[in-house]
Amino acid sequence: MPKPIILAIDDELQVLNAIERDLRHHFQAEYRVIKANSGTQGLETVRLLKQRDAAVALFLVDERMPGISGTQFLIEALKLYPDARRVLLTAYADTEAAITAINQIGLDHYLLKPWEPPEQRLYPVLDDLLAEWQARTRPPFDGMRVAGTTLSASSYAIKDFLSRNLVPYQWVDLDLDTAARELVAAIPDGLSRLPVVMFPDGTPMVQPTPRELAERIGLQTRAQRPFYDLVVVGGGPAGLAASVYAASEGLRTILVERDATGGQAGTSSQIENYLGFPSGISGADLARRATTQARRFGAEIISAQDATCIRRNDPYRVVTLSDGSELNCYAVLLASGMEVRRLEAPGVADFVGVGVYYGAALSEAAMYRGKDVFVIGGGNSAGQGAMFFSRYARQVTIAVRAPKLDAMSQYLVDRITEAANIDVLTRTVVSSVRGSSRLEGITLTELESGTARDVTCDAMFVFIGSAPRTQMVEGIVERDAQGFILTGRDLLTDGHWPKSWVLERDPFLFETSVPGIFAAGDARRGSSKRVASAVGEGSATVSMIHQYLSTV
Ligand SMILES: Cc1cc2nc3c(=O)[nH]c(=O)nc-3n(C[C@H](O)[C@H](O)[C@H](O)COP(=O)(O)OP(=O)(O)OC[C@H]3O[C@@H](n4cnc5c(N)ncnc54)[C@H](O)[C@@H]3O)c2cc1C
Repeated sequence: MPKPIILAIDDELQVLNAIERDLRHHFQAEYRVIKANSGTQGLETVRLLKQRDAAVALFLVDERMPGISGTQFLIEALKLYPDARRVLLTAYADTEAAITAINQIGLDHYLLKPWEPPEQRLYPVLDDLLAEWQARTRPPFDGMRVAGTTLSASSYAIKDFLSRNLVPYQWVDLDLDTAARELVAAIPDGLSRLPVVMFPDGTPMVQPTPRELAERIGLQTRAQRPFYDLVVVGGGPAGLAASVYAASEGLRTILVERDATGGQAGTSSQIENYLGFPSGISGADLARRATTQARRFGAEIISAQDATCIRRNDPYRVVTLSDGSELNCYAVLLASGMEVRRLEAPGVADFVGVGVYYGAALSEAAMYRGKDVFVIGGGNSAGQGAMFFSRYARQVTIAVRAPKLDAMSQYLVDRITEAANIDVLTRTVVSSVRGSSRLEGITLTELESGTARDVTCDAMFVFIGSAPRTQMVEGIVERDAQGFILTGRDLLTDGHWPKSWVLERDPFLFETSVPGIFAAGDARRGSSKRVASAVGEGSATVSMIHQYLSTV
C-alpha cells in the first residue's frame, strides 16, 4: 500500500523547508511528506494526487500567502479530499482568520509559528489528528464485506453495529452489484436472509446477530477473569470515564456494553460544547479515544452483551449477562443512560431501518445524498442531526411539536436559520407514514388547525426525547416514577432511608439503595444529561467505590 500523504504549503521557503524537515523526521515511516510553495501550486498538486487516487491524510497550510490564502486553499482542496485533516499555520495576527476557519471549513487546529520544540507543539497535535484520520478512513481490513440491500432492516442493524464499533467493512449493495448478487445467491439461504457477511478467507455468515458477528471478528464478548472489583454497566461517557479512572487506579474493572461504546454521545455527529475541543468532536471520535484510554489502563470491555439482572450475594454482587453468563464482583456501577423514545404513529414500526431511523444513523447519511429528509424533534440532538444531514440531503425539514426551537441551544438555532436547505415546521406532528418496501411519504398534521397534508419523504430521523434504561434493576434498586435511579440523599423519604438500607453509614452521594451498587450519568435522577456531567459523575463515583471497597 502506498503511504498516505501529508501536504505542507508555505510561500516562505525557509519556513517550508523547516516544516518539511520536522514532518519527515517524525512521520516518514508512515506518511509521505510533500510540499508546495503557494496555494496555486498546492491546488495543482492536490488535483494530480486525486487523479492518481492517492490518499491525503493532512493539509498543513500557511494562512497568509499571496494569491490564495490558506483558508481559500482548504476550501478548494477539501472538495477533493473532504476527510483530510486540516491545520493552518498562523502568526498571532492571523488568529482571527483561523477562528473563522473553524466554523467555515471545520478547521481542526491552528498552529502558531514558530512551532518549536516540535516534540511539544507540533507532533502531539498532528499525531492525534492522523490517528483520527486513520480511524475514519482505514481501508477494510483485508476486505470484510457486508452484502445486503438498502431495503433490509437487518442489513442496517449490522452496518450500524459495525460502524458504531469502528470496525471497517465494505458495504455491497446487492441491488447495484450483480456479480455480488450471484455470489450471495449461491450461498444457502443467502438472498432470503440478508445481510450476508463475507470474510477475506471466503467464509460467509448469513444474517448474523451482532454478538455472533462480534465473536467472529474478535471483539471481546466474554469476561476473562473469574472476579472483578468493579463491573460497569453501560459504555457511554459515564461508564467509560469510570472505567478509565477505576482501571488506572488499580481496580480490576470490566465494562459491559450491549451495543457500542460511546452511548448516546457516540451517535452525535458533532459535540461542540465538550471542554477542550474548540472546533467540536464527533461522538465516534470521543468514543474511540475514551475506549482506547480505558483499555490502555487495563479495563476489559465486552460488547454485544446486555446486563439483564443484578443480584446480591453479600458481600458480592452478581451481574447476569444476556448469554446467561455471570460476572462476580464487589461493586457495580449502573451507567446505562437513556434510550430514545419511539414515535407512536401508524406504520412507523414497519419502516425502522428502511427510511425511519432513531437518532442520527450516521452510517446512512450518504444514502440520502440529494434526497428530502425530515428530522422530527426540537432538541439539541435534532439540531445536530439536521445540520449533519444538510451536508448530504437536498432538503432537510425539521418538524417540531413546540411553537419554536426553544429547547435547542442558540448556536444551533443560528446555524439552522443560516442554512439554505433547512426548513423548520413548528406546531407540527407526524400523524402517519406510508410506503411500499421503504418509506416514501409522511402525513404532517398542524396542531392548531388540525390540517393534515401528505408530503414525500425519503428518510425520517426521529429525536423525540428519551427515557432511562434501567429495567434490569427493577425491584432491585429504588427508582422514581420515570425509572431514573435514586442515589444518595434522593433516597430519603421524610428524613428516612429506605427500609432495605440497614447499614449504619449513610449511602454515598452516587450510591443506590443497595450498598455497593452505584449509578452515574443520565440514568441517575438529577443528572444534567450532558456529556461533561456524565464524564464527571462517572469519574467521581470511583472515589466512592474506593471508600466502599475499604468496607468489604
Ligand atoms: C444525538 C445526541 C447528541 C447529543 N449531543 C450532546 C452535546 O452536543 N453535548 C452534550 O453535552 N450532550 C449531548 N448529548 C447528551 C449526551 O450524549 C448524554 O448526556 C450522555 O451520553 C449520557 O452519558 P451516559 O454515559 O450517562 O449514558 P449513555 O450515553 O446513554 O450511555 C449508556 C450506555 O449504556 C448501554 N446500556 C444500556 N443498558 C445496558 C445494559 N443493560 N447492558 C449493557 N449496556 C447497556 C447503552 O447501550 C449505552 O451505550 C447528546 C445526545 C444525543 C442522543
